[in-house]
Amino acid sequence: MKRIGILTSGGDAAGMNASVRAIARSAMSAGLEAYGINYGFAGLVAGDIHKLESIDMDGIISRGGTVLYSARFPEFAEEKTQLKGIEQLKKFGIDALVVIGGDGSYHGAERLTQHGFNSIGMPGTIDNDIPGTDFTVGFDTAVSVALDALDRVNDTATSHQRTFIVEVMGRGAGDIALWAGIAADADAIVIPERDYDIQAIASKIKQNRANGKDHNLVVLAEGVMSAAEFKEKLDKFGVLHTRAITLGHVQRGGSPTARDRVLASRFGDFAVKLLLEGKGGLAIGIKDNKLVASDIIDTLENHKHVTDVSLQDLNDRLRF
Ligand code: ATP
Repeated sequence: MKRIGILTSGGDAAGMNASVRAIARSAMSAGLEAYGINYGFAGLVAGDIHKLESIDMDGIISRGGTVLYSARFPEFAEEKTQLKGIEQLKKFGIDALVVIGGDGSYHGAERLTQHGFNSIGMPGTIDNDIPGTDFTVGFDTAVSVALDALDRVNDTATSHQRTFIVEVMGRGAGDIALWAGIAADADAIVIPERDYDIQAIASKIKQNRANGKDHNLVVLAEGVMSAAEFKEKLDKFGVLHTRAITLGHVQRGGSPTARDRVLASRFGDFAVKLLLEGKGGLAIGIKDNKLVASDIIDTLENHKHVTDVSLQDLNDRLRF
């Protein structure tokens, strides 16, 4: 094996650049060449591919977003498009590919492997919703950004004695809501993995107010409903002075945390090690702080990300 290709795909996440750097530099230190593919699978098919030099990797560990750009390219679900992608990889003499992204991107890597081209899926998404790993690159930064916003919201909520409903990202997973919510001392965390009782939440907020608590915070995962819709429901139950906020894409940006940078570095190095051993078709991850690799098809088809819903119980106890 001489050349490894790298692409970033799906929603961008802080730490994608740290991931690209780690793969490229690990490959180079093993005497291989690294090739960057712009715009995910779209760039792969278009042949938007260039050699990466070590100097290109200088300084990118601290930058948010992805220097390789990202794209949604649904056409990659078609076999003829996948085969075109493989043609391009062969044209550039690339022997193996690392795909950094979420579970959709993993499907792309899986398809390439099924066509005989060794590819590895590396978890890069803020949502932390990929099976086969406890944590994804980008999650820790997204939680930190959300927490910073929640702390600020708590300040203004206190000054005006308001109840804020803050919607955070996570697609179908409640991980960001749980982690940011606990850290921000939320009065309630609402996640898609569990039913919620709007009446109980409204009663608790009203009781808090009656007890003299000067602000209330509900952290709502986007997979449940919008903050505006949740506010309407609370209003109907007589909660006063409510405000709804959607944090949105700010959660994706920013300089990655040390934890995301280190995770990206470990994943990138591990991916290269596996490819050097001739292994592909794998999804890599971290479980109990150990690097793990599992069959990408089995991971996608037979496993689901499991959100640690016990964190919601913990929050309820701490907010008692
Ligand atoms: P995130 O969830 O963080 O946004 P993701 O990787 O899940 O990331 P998707 O938009 O689902 O984001 O997928 C990214 C890209 O992966 C798609 O635009 C497409 O190019 C490719 N892809 C998705 N599903 C498949 C599939 N079934 N077969 C081949 N390629 C796929």
